[in-house]
Amino acid sequence: MRVFDIPAGDTGYALVLHGGAGGRVKEFTAEEQQAYSVGLSAAFNVGQRVLEAGGTALDAVCLTVEQLENNPVFNAGCGAALTAKGEAELDAAVMTGNGSAGAVAVSRHAKNPIFLARKVLEESEHVLLVSPSEALVSSWGLEVVEPSYFVTDSRQRQLEAVQSKQLAGSRHGTVGAVALDKQGNLAAATSTGGMVNQHEGRVGDTPIIGAGTYARDGVVAVSCTGTGEAFLEGAVAHEIYARMRYAGTTLPEAVSATITAELDTRDADGGIIAVGADGRIVVAHNSQDMFAAYCDAGNLVILT
Ligand code: ASP
Repeated sequence: MRVFDIPAGDTGYALVLHGGAGGRVKEFTAEEQQAYSVGLSAAFNVGQRVLEAGGTALDAVCLTVEQLENNPVFNAGCGAALTAKGEAELDAAVMTGNGSAGAVAVSRHAKNPIFLARKVLEESEHVLLVSPSEALVSSWGLEVVEPSYFVTDSRQRQLEAVQSKQLAGSRHGTVGAVALDKQGNLAAATSTGGMVNQHEGRVGDTPIIGAGTYARDGVVAVSCTGTGEAFLEGAVAHEIYARMRYAGTTLPEAVSATITAELDTRDADGGIIAVGADGRIVVAHNSQDMFAAYCDAGNLVILT
């Protein structure tokens, strides 16, 4: 397990984002690795501008994730991992530290599933909608796209390689962001196409509040990536919150103890980003690699 523990800076806000933990960087070409770095850094800049200007953590995480969804190298929005039938079924969730959440599973029509999740939070009485209709997406004023918009050649090749057993159940590039704004509010957002070759209708941890995504003001905001089933069974994001809230555990200890207890024991791998109420940041993973971006003492750090 690798744990990066970054002390709070003096800006009054904090932002960390991830681009998945399933990638095997050694299998990437230099260009692919560069594309991940450039994408992470561009998305980080968008979120940072929001927070620097005094904007909300909710805006920062949603706009950061939008950038990553629009970038075909990541497993979210355009370029998402495909189901066994070769289709994109997208999951996304957002939660604010005041306890409000919105999420979508098996989303097919909204260009940006994270904005759809935000609409569920802001415009509906519900927390999770499954397979929201095209009519609902457009009635909320969101951009609608054809299902083919999400499907890239490279994901089709990846699916073929997994189905013909040339590639082990590979996946990488789920995205997420957590932030603390200058007003002290926390927020978390996560978006994914799920696992390559997953059964149609399979829903992972990403849109399940408390599994892949969780935030609570005064404590922590968490976004996860990895083998979704283990994060679901371990209620991983909430487990980190609970260790901090009820056992007084520090952020890095809560994250690493949760990885040990809930992922290692299930032989599952993945990664976690988290920000505490004081702006302390943790990036941790028991997977081989993890993509993430954050600021340490004023310098942008990109993990690939
Ligand atoms: N956690 C996601 C899922 O299971 C996949 C990932 O993060 O790579 O759907």
